[in-house]
Amino acid sequence: MTARPSAWAAGLKLRCPQCGKGEVFQGYLKFRDTCRACGADFKAADAGDGPAVFVILIVGAIVAPLLIVLQHGLDLPGWLALTLTLLAAVVLSLALLPPFKSVLFAFQWKHKAREATSDDIE
Ligand SMILES: [Zn+2]
Repeated sequence: MTARPSAWAAGLKLRCPQCGKGEVFQGYLKFRDTCRACGADFKAADAGDGPAVFVILIVGAIVAPLLIVLQHGLDLPGWLALTLTLLAAVVLSLALLPPFKSVLFAFQWKHKAREATSDDIE
């Protein structure tokens, strides 16, 4: 039996949190039902809104100062500064969503986190 990879390593590589080999996504952000390498069941995978929240905070912290620098530091016209900033926001968001979703799912897997149900209450 192979050692389980760290949640960071598996998540950032978009790999299965159980074996670290199989891809965790089919398509852009849709989880596979099972790992192709080890058969781990991903059907309960749900990172919820967490990835989007982290990406919004990080991208916002990058593009807000970028807009100020482009418009006031480099003295670009407003329309150009705004266009470049919006483009950067879209590209960064699309690039960061898969790794954040994968990392949060890997930590969810590691800590066996799941949705609470009525069975959890005595
Ligand atoms: Zn696997």
